[in-house]
Amino acid sequence: MTESQRQEIKRHLESRLEELSLKSTDGMDRVENCADEVEYATRMAEHSLNVMLRERESAQVNQIRKALKRLDSLDFGVCEECGDDIGLARLKAQPTSRLCVDCQAALESRPLAYAC
Ligand SMILES: [Zn+2]
Repeated sequence: MTESQRQEIKRHLESRLEELSLKSTDGMDRVENCADEVEYATRMAEHSLNVMLRERESAQVNQIRKALKRLDSLDFGVCEECGDDIGLARLKAQPTSRLCVDCQAALESRPLAYAC
């Protein structure tokens, strides 16, 4: 991983982080007391959907923050299995990945071990 690739990923992650933090301050998930039950139910449904999205977003924010921290370490972008470069495209899509595409695929195709 070259320094410019590192910078590119850093910028990418920081702009993702900014996008996500802008979204979470829009205050859309307020549920007001509503006389109409149907309207209230609709708003509650929207609210729980928002909460779900919000949770997913905050998980992403955490992942990105972690990735940004790891970005400064020397082994960032290096596959933990084979030591190859993970690849820029993959890191941008999944900044927290610690395995290259090949090793990830091998891991996923490994038969599951069943505990008796
Ligand atoms: Zn690998």
